[in-house]
Amino acid sequence: MSLKLLTKPVPPKVFGTLLTNIVKKGLCCGCGNCVAACPVMALTMKEEMPAMTGICVTCEICYYQCPKVDFPYERYEEILFGRRRRNDEPIGVVREVYTARATSEEFRSRGTDGGAVTALLSYLLKSGTVDGAVVCGVDPKDYWKAIPILAVSDKDLIEAAGTKYTSAPMMLGLAEAVRDHGKESLVFVGTGCRIEALRKSQFEEKNYYWWGKRVKVAIGLFCFESFHDKILREYLPAKGINLSEVSKFHITKGRFFVYSGNRILLKAPLKEVAQYAFSSCSTCANVTNEYADISVGGAGSPDGWNTVILRSEAGEKLFKAAVEAGFIEASAISNEGLEAVIKLAGLKKKKEH
Ligand SMILES: Cc1cc2nc3c(=O)[nH]c(=O)nc-3n(C[C@H](O)[C@H](O)[C@H](O)COP(=O)(O)OP(=O)(O)OC[C@H]3O[C@@H](n4cnc5c(N)ncnc54)[C@H](O)[C@@H]3O)c2cc1C
Ligand code: SF4
Ligand code: SF4
Ligand code: SF4
Repeated sequence: MSLKLLTKPVPPKVFGTLLTNIVKKGLCCGCGNCVAACPVMALTMKEEMPAMTGICVTCEICYYQCPKVDFPYERYEEILFGRRRRNDEPIGVVREVYTARATSEEFRSRGTDGGAVTALLSYLLKSGTVDGAVVCGVDPKDYWKAIPILAVSDKDLIEAAGTKYTSAPMMLGLAEAVRDHGKESLVFVGTGCRIEALRKSQFEEKNYYWWGKRVKVAIGLFCFESFHDKILREYLPAKGINLSEVSKFHITKGRFFVYSGNRILLKAPLKEVAQYAFSSCSTCANVTNEYADISVGGAGSPDGWNTVILRSEAGEKLFKAAVEAGFIEASAISNEGLEAVIKLAGLKKKKEH
């Protein structure tokens, strides 16, 4: 007679579980980490979301690599910053906060705020600190469709400068940079959820490729929300905007601006585009990108400048080296500026539901 099992076997957490628990509940942010992590390449991104297109071997990797599944906040703070945040740190672990901008006029004019991210990337490439930068460009065949790009020169960085408010599967860009281009030491740029995906790729044990191990520094963009491609394909054409004329998008002070050079093509209240926002953003409280080495946004600093939060020791060293080398000018953020950043982060944490 066989022994009766006292407990039911736990079913493996496979892609179907991810679909049920994350994608179908509107929690998927489109980072692409599940797709990039699958050891048998059974997944593909389709219309901004992951889909099964191959044969699953039930390894559970996609499930545990998802940043929206059990993100171990405290453990990662210990790993990244050597300590957990204190109760008096409302925007995560912080070493120093600056107001900064690129010294290059070209980087400033092509950047969204002060061009500090492009300047920092340029320094990291030119100094040989990294051999590539995973950034977000646009598909040359599809106006303003955001895609991950591997940048290795100032020319690439300038082409990819500017904020893309739509979704790009940045983790696929990282996988390509390592697998197809043999890059060994990268800088990775992303919004909070993308940096969380990167951290899973670096530290989560259910892993096969460990793409994230090749990333030396993570630059996180502040992010209040991102939008589905429908904003480009439906909303803007309905407003009479020809995407081929657009040179820049900017969300600031509660308004969505669309530019062609210095000309404003559209200035709309954010409420008007709210229907195009990812639903996963309503459950995200990570405006200031709390798991990046360096977080960068516009909020808290004057127009044409960036707010830069230094979080890790490596991030602090690299940012200060870029300032020292003349790529970036920086001074301590004002008290009012810092309060504005804390207020923005608090607003999002309150909105999270
Ligand atoms: C979806 C989204 C929402 C944002 N919301 C806010 C906000 O509410 N408040 C705020 O202060 N700042 C916000 N930001 C950040 C801000 O728009 C600027 O990106 C940031 O201040 C850096 O400016 P910069 O002048 O240094 O940019 P740049 O010098 O132009 O550098 C930006 C770099 O980021 C890369 N990049 C652009 N878009 C993406 C993307 N979607 N994913 C990954 N990499 C990307 C570019 O390729 C470039 O390398 C948001 C950014 C994004 C992507
Ligand atoms: S093989 Fe593994 S990673 Fe790929 S879909 Fe199946 S469970 Fe997910
Ligand atoms: S959030 Fe990222 S990892 Fe999770 S299901 Fe969506 S694309 Fe996959
Ligand atoms: S609000 Fe959060 S989930 Fe949405 S794109 Fe920004 S970081 Fe990702």
